Amino acid sequence: MGAGDATKATSLKEFHARSIADREGFWAEQAALIDWHEPFRRVLDYTNPPFTRWFVGGRTNLCHNAVDRHLASRRDSPALIFVSTETGAERTYTFGELHREVVRMAAIMRELGVRRGDRVLIYMPMIPEATFAMLACARIGAIHSVVFGGFASHSLASRIDDASPVLVVSADAGSRAGKVVPYKPLLDAAIGMARNKPANVVMVDRGLAPFERVAGRDHDYAALRERHLDAEVPVEWLESNEVSYTLYTSGTTGVPKGVQRDVGGYAVALAASMKYIFCGNAGETYFSTSDIGWVVGHSYIVYGPLIAGMATIMYEGTPLRPDAGILWKLVEKYRVTVMFSAPTAIRVLKKQDPSWLTRYDLSSLRALFLAGEPLDEPTARWIGEALGKPIVDNYWQTETGWPILTVAHGIEKTPTRLGSPGMPMYGYDLRLLHEQTGEEVGVDQKGVVAIVPPLPPGCMQTVWGDDDRFVRTYFSTIPGRLVYSTFDWGIRDADGYYFILGRTDDVINVAGHRLGTREIEESLSSHPAVAECAVVGVADSLKGQVAMAFVVLKDPAQAAAQDARLALEGDLMATVDRQLGAVARPARVHFVTLLPKTRSGKVLRRSIQAICEARDPGDLTTIEDPGALDQLRQALGSRT
Ligand code: ATP
Ligand code: MG
Repeated sequence: MGAGDATKATSLKEFHARSIADREGFWAEQAALIDWHEPFRRVLDYTNPPFTRWFVGGRTNLCHNAVDRHLASRRDSPALIFVSTETGAERTYTFGELHREVVRMAAIMRELGVRRGDRVLIYMPMIPEATFAMLACARIGAIHSVVFGGFASHSLASRIDDASPVLVVSADAGSRAGKVVPYKPLLDAAIGMARNKPANVVMVDRGLAPFERVAGRDHDYAALRERHLDAEVPVEWLESNEVSYTLYTSGTTGVPKGVQRDVGGYAVALAASMKYIFCGNAGETYFSTSDIGWVVGHSYIVYGPLIAGMATIMYEGTPLRPDAGILWKLVEKYRVTVMFSAPTAIRVLKKQDPSWLTRYDLSSLRALFLAGEPLDEPTARWIGEALGKPIVDNYWQTETGWPILTVAHGIEKTPTRLGSPGMPMYGYDLRLLHEQTGEEVGVDQKGVVAIVPPLPPGCMQTVWGDDDRFVRTYFSTIPGRLVYSTFDWGIRDADGYYFILGRTDDVINVAGHRLGTREIEESLSSHPAVAECAVVGVADSLKGQVAMAFVVLKDPAQAAAQDARLALEGDLMATVDRQLGAVARPARVHFVTLLPKTRSGKVLRRSIQAICEARDPGDLTTIEDPGALDQLRQALGSRT
């Protein structure tokens, strides 16, 4: 039995301590959570630091563990639930049906010459075929590279060049908030620009946007599928350290990095996280509002829930259409037990009538997990009280693939603490280090959140195609120590709870005082009028830097008139004065209706800062709405 029994009556701290003291024993037990075609010879190979190899010699397959493995016991149970409030489509695939579709897609890929180790680029909206394509790649040992649907052609072109895919799987269009976004023209332009052009493109035609076909290169998915209805494509048994996929980070702080992930370590890490962190059981429904273009979509829309034998909801739509109750309506309808979203989505709901949160039967729901950005206390409290469910903040990165900090209720019912994502998860030897000396800092002292390698299973193996960049970027920033830097500031209280204070480049220095922009944001957010805000440090000839705040109000009309705006600005400054002291007071509070964010909903503070300092806003590949930058420029220009 192993994994299950070892956790009985263990505290999270003991569980964690054992995972570090006896890494091999610990992870060998967790490895029993998945199927292995051939057992591994060695749990951990760390002979070439900081490169880490898990479950060396073991053979397994992500598609087998996510799909085939469940056929015997739950062939007719729901596996993939597709809901599009954009097109009105809604369909549930059982594990048996999912298996058939994945095999068909795998047969199509085979026919088009895709072999083990080849790259397949997936540029798709949130439709079932995207999941089929990911799982089909996993099945035949091809490496998928999912690019967020709707990314502009130059970002797509650079990702095509980086991956040099033999095949692209795409669709005619996505749809967002009722607007059709044609993908094919973007794809054609990107392939036109790319140096490494794919030989083949498979197009899913949703009938949303007519498109041109390039003869000999573009193929119709429906026609190919017809030819492979009864296909059989066996699973390729991959060595645990073969590459499953590459995926880019969100690009919040600069040029996105291509994260490369393995097979066996990832499968084990996800299975363990489903058990200990998300507490999702086979037969239940998991609902993540993320997108397959992000790591949350990889780990917790596709692979994690399916590996656990859960049904997973794939949702094409926004939290507001047809109305602000849609997410909760889906929870009721599909008896969702575990839900995963982002603080940004909750802040959107905060601007709506709160009664939307209580109109549906949410009795199935056990917890709402939130990740991706700092979860401010007011937002956490608001949603927790409105839903009457535990809100579980969890902190991690594209690089790590699964949570670094959270509470793990499958191990111990550790209480959550507002403003804190929790404690280090098993497998992560987490430290808070002094930026300059590399020494560990004490309780309640700020340090860089760092992980002493080897990184646990599931974390990135390297930067795709660039081992040097992996070492240089992540392992060379803390003086004198080979440790992985998260580039986030953190602090730990006496009970072991961590608090994330923002990115290491987000700290500002006002007249010699170092302030985390997150703390000022947190303070502004506590004001009842504020829906969300961003604070950046701006160069100032007198003080070195000053804090500049941009605030989105729950009700924008409140700042319509000049005197109301000034009164509110004064009120917000007084709030910061009271909570943090005058030194933290923003030099100005600007009111906008939109903050510049990445497509995954993260505030682009570096671009805000650049605009405040009249510099070039830098790499904007992943920006959601460039109009937000114009608003900033206007807000700054109109104030003197
Ligand atoms: P890039 O690395 O390309 O600049 P990114 O860091 O935004 O982009 P992701 O991997 O998507 O790319 O985001 C991880 C980061 O998001 C973390 O390093 C942290 O700054 C932030 N983050 C994620 N979850 C949380 C959380 N629960 N609390 C606070 N911050 C979080
Ligand atoms: Mg990052």
